[in-house]
Amino acid sequence: MSDKVTKSKEEWRSELTPQQYEVCREKGTEAPFSGEYAECKTPGVYVCACCGQELFSSQTKFDSGSGWPSFWQPSSPDSTATETDVSHGMRRTEVTCSKCDAHLGHVFDDGPLPTNLRYCINSVSLGLKPDPDKE
Ligand code: FE
Repeated sequence: MSDKVTKSKEEWRSELTPQQYEVCREKGTEAPFSGEYAECKTPGVYVCACCGQELFSSQTKFDSGSGWPSFWQPSSPDSTATETDVSHGMRRTEVTCSKCDAHLGHVFDDGPLPTNLRYCINSVSLGLKPDPDKE
């Protein structure tokens, strides 16, 4: 992809908070119910904390009870990428930002209709652009 964002670890470290760096660039996980968007119901668009790409719409956010922001669909088929993750003794599907490869979280197949998917995403991987028409 031509508009891919590629930066060194040092560059990312200088631009991100320590927690954002740990989660987004080192595949960490924030503690459940700790993130600012877990319970957030503000209408708007969630963007990548690293590169600003649109990732999820609040219209596909749902209460999963997991303690992490949960969505049943990305805002476009191209905005996220997935990869098999066998770390920590589990077989999961990792979700990344397609533009900058930021680690976002994981996707599971126990979500609600219409997709039955549950994108379980770290709050620190996201930024929220509130919809000005709905504030
Ligand atoms: Fe990104």
